[in-house]
Amino acid sequence: MTNHKELQEEIKKRRTFAIISHPDAGKTTLTEKLLFLGGQIRSTGTVKSRKSAKYATSDWMEIEKQRGISVTSSVMNFNYKGHTINILDTPGHEDFSEDTYRTLLAVDSVVMIIDAAKGVESQTKKLFKVVSEHGIPIFTFINKMDRQGREPLELLEEIEDVLGIESYPMNWPIGIGQSFQGVYDRHQKAVEFYDTEGDNKQAMQISDLEDPVLKEKAGEDLVNQLQEDVLLLDEAGATYNEEALQSGKQTPVFFGSAISSFGVPTFLNHFLDLAPSPAPRESSEGEVKPDEETFSGFIFKIQANMNPAHRDRVAFLRIVSGTFEKGMEAWLERTGKSLKLSQGQLFFASSRGNVEKAYPGDIVGLYDSGTYQIGDTLVGSKNVYSFGALPTFPPEHFAKVRAQKAMKQKHFYKGVQQLSEEGAIQVYRTAHWDEIVIGVVGRLQFEIFEYRMKGEYNVDIQFDTMPHQHARWIETDNPEDKVDSIRNMLVYDQLKRPVLLFQNDFALRWFKDKNPDIPLRESR
Ligand code: GDP
Repeated sequence: MTNHKELQEEIKKRRTFAIISHPDAGKTTLTEKLLFLGGQIRSTGTVKSRKSAKYATSDWMEIEKQRGISVTSSVMNFNYKGHTINILDTPGHEDFSEDTYRTLLAVDSVVMIIDAAKGVESQTKKLFKVVSEHGIPIFTFINKMDRQGREPLELLEEIEDVLGIESYPMNWPIGIGQSFQGVYDRHQKAVEFYDTEGDNKQAMQISDLEDPVLKEKAGEDLVNQLQEDVLLLDEAGATYNEEALQSGKQTPVFFGSAISSFGVPTFLNHFLDLAPSPAPRESSEGEVKPDEETFSGFIFKIQANMNPAHRDRVAFLRIVSGTFEKGMEAWLERTGKSLKLSQGQLFFASSRGNVEKAYPGDIVGLYDSGTYQIGDTLVGSKNVYSFGALPTFPPEHFAKVRAQKAMKQKHFYKGVQQLSEEGAIQVYRTAHWDEIVIGVVGRLQFEIFEYRMKGEYNVDIQFDTMPHQHARWIETDNPEDKVDSIRNMLVYDQLKRPVLLFQNDFALRWFKDKNPDIPLRESR
């Protein structure tokens, strides 16, 4: 048993976060540098970027390999300066999926990486929306300052305009691209000079921005510009507000260059100081505090092993309260049944290891032979409660699917049902012919669906991809009257609620203009 004080200390040490970004902004690179600082990897360049292994869409072996990688890199756990850190992976390339969104509901804070040349990109916007709706604290790292990028002020403005969050620069760049000299830390009144080693040997305390040493090192012009910028920020910029940060209303911004690790250690130190440790969570019985003695947690992701020799699934459990102990008994709220949690796994940078004990904020992988569903609550006592269903997220790709052979119908429906419970796909039926339509957030999910239907249910699938891009729950008594066969299409979800599929943004706007009184919802 862990005593209460021990439990509180373990909670205080923990930081569980995810990195959100658009592909290529530098997520892999930054993650690697963080793992390196944590001593988890000995040299950088070892975390395989999924896109670097050339991806052939029709090559099933390739998918297996990739899924194999993504299981082990789903959660990366490491220690740094007395903290225990869990980074949850948010797959963003071909394997962008609903899991990517759901993972954001299992973290206590988020790091947003922005490419200094590209600004706020589409995938970042989508992920940011989920983060901000849930009031999760968000830290911004503006990356690639060693390359010619946009003006820093312009980038801040874009963050505020496009994402609608106030930004507070913690440091400020001296020059950009070719002329990038380093950053000025506004709080500590120190300058870190850029060097490609990135180990901060050259961090230098300065009394103020007039310090002659600064001009000597960075040059007159850049220092003049820095003085001007900092004056402007002090006078017209946001004031630092801890409360706004903790509620996700203000984001502290750091400039740096992940590839040279420049600014990364300082970023990590500030982050560990400011980011929250595991928070209480609302349940059907009121707020559950992390230091409550009773263990609790919820399942936010289920991942199937694509290797036919290991037909297991792993359910990812985020611990909310109490201590997880190997072999413990817990109750599944949905069924009220008790389970023995004998095979928990903790995830490390590049491996999985059996876990004896885990604490709030930690992610435990549970072997699953079909017991768990997305959003399940587990409680270490008979008096169960629920953390509530996780929201669904709007699919962007749709296809009509059926079994190639009518004989396989039963297996087909079983597979569709199970994969939908796992959260891999969303399932609808068409209004008239009762055809099955599946919706996914990322296209790769279609291939995984087809592959698993064949491998696990022995059903060959006939696919008809559809041109639709948006699904919206429609609240009206007579949805059939609202169908405009050219621009939208009516289907029903698993609970027989009407959903309209739209071909594009234009069709969606058109519908809204014509039917201002009918609410359309992205998630239920
Ligand atoms: P991800 O798709 O977000 O995981 O991005 P990666 O970490 O794979 O980086 C994408 C590309 O940008 C790679 O070629 C990196 O080497 C490069 N990159 C990452 N960080 C920096 C940086 O700070 N400066 C420069 N110049 N390139 C970077």
